[in-house]
Amino acid sequence: MAPHALLIPLPAQGHINPMMQLAWKLVSHGFLITFLNSDSTHNRIHKANTLNSFFDNIRMISAPFEFPPLDSLEGIENRIESLIKGMGPSVIDKVIQEINAREEENKVTCIIADVWMCFGLQAVATLHELPLAAFHTALVSLFAIRYFSAHLVSLGILHSDGIPKEDKKTKYLPCMPALHSGDLPWLWAGEYMFRKGIRMGEEIKDIKWVLFNSFIEIEAPVVETLSKEVGVYPIGPLIPPEFLIDSRTSTKVLPSFRKTDTDCLQWLDKQCAHSVIYISFGSTGILSEKQLEELALGLEATQRPFLWVVRSDLMKGSEANLPVGFLEQVRDRGCIVSWAPQLEVLSHPSIACFVTHCGWNSVQESITMGVPMLCWPYFADQFLNRAYVVDVWKLGLPLNANSQGIIKQGEIVKGVEILQESEQGLEIREEAKKLKIIARDAVKDGGSSWNNFNLFVTAMKRQPN
Ligand code: UDP
Repeated sequence: MAPHALLIPLPAQGHINPMMQLAWKLVSHGFLITFLNSDSTHNRIHKANTLNSFFDNIRMISAPFEFPPLDSLEGIENRIESLIKGMGPSVIDKVIQEINAREEENKVTCIIADVWMCFGLQAVATLHELPLAAFHTALVSLFAIRYFSAHLVSLGILHSDGIPKEDKKTKYLPCMPALHSGDLPWLWAGEYMFRKGIRMGEEIKDIKWVLFNSFIEIEAPVVETLSKEVGVYPIGPLIPPEFLIDSRTSTKVLPSFRKTDTDCLQWLDKQCAHSVIYISFGSTGILSEKQLEELALGLEATQRPFLWVVRSDLMKGSEANLPVGFLEQVRDRGCIVSWAPQLEVLSHPSIACFVTHCGWNSVQESITMGVPMLCWPYFADQFLNRAYVVDVWKLGLPLNANSQGIIKQGEIVKGVEILQESEQGLEIREEAKKLKIIARDAVKDGGSSWNNFNLFVTAMKRQPN
């Protein structure tokens, strides 16, 4: 009887993608997967993709709960609370009962849930005598800063609502790089997110396996520190193996919420090696009209080819409004899509650099493909990721906003020119090449993530049903 994992992602693009990549990896180790989404997320994925492509041995199912994907941050507190209730322990209990009643031969043998979906889940796992693993889709450092944040309050470094007492760059944890006071990952959603992070740490502490889509080599001091408290198992980068050998195509399709425009790959084929600027703000990043205009004018001023993901909801409040005449000006060297096949794009030899919002998946994909970054974070862990990219790994440059919070066109031109033309840019590109190899080695036979993944898989296969 095959081991059968019930996977429960948080219904956001940046969480579903790595969960699906984990599913592929488990399938290649002989697992059967049930991939559970809320009804509306499940339907949206099916609308945007041709799906038998998700793979043999992966069943996509939905829980009877209407929860639209988290691709807007409006009312985030209420939405997360309603999700935690709507797809909470009693629903998961019912899902497991139904699967087990239907499939005598293929009962669920383990549960892997996004850390945001773990609240109260241990009781269900215990009830069904199943091992529960938590999956954290970002840096171990993100979990660590949340985990130790109550301690930072007791030390008097943070106020009780998570706001730093001092407004200066601070090394909040000795094992982590210094962060600006505004960079702490909960500040965008206030005290709610701060408290939720602490609760998450308490909940996860008792779960034996906490899998991370990261790898030890990029944040070893944090892994060492946190491992004294929690079962930390970095298993990333969870990129399909085809991309790790630069084959650039995969039969696997990520469950995106939007239709992917693959024509841009043919456009990339026509561009010179290392010439194209790729710009994407992930699934939720939004720009004001003024900011969008400055970015467009900056791209125009670089005089270089670019591929820009302009989602229909990229601009706050309305359809993205590009400056008059912009499309005419850049017709011969610009490609605009509403959703890109990002892994294929980043692994394309014509890509020179990535203007990124620093969502963890985007950063890790960029690292694994050896692409230097221009960092443009706007919320959550993106500032932490930028600190690592710029200050620790030296894989990119920050794009700095002016006093009105706008990244001006000149800043974009300057960033691209430094990366492409200067001595500093050359050093960054060299670092990107080195870290690409280290990332790939982590998941190769005998690598750090390979070891962790094998430990996990062996333990899950040993579980009695
Ligand atoms: N992505 C994509 N096409 C796009 C933009 C993003 O396939 O045009 C994917 C990207 O490869 C990544 C995910 O969407 O896997 C976004 O996750 P990330 O953590 O970077 O950002 P988030 O959307 O969570 O802010």
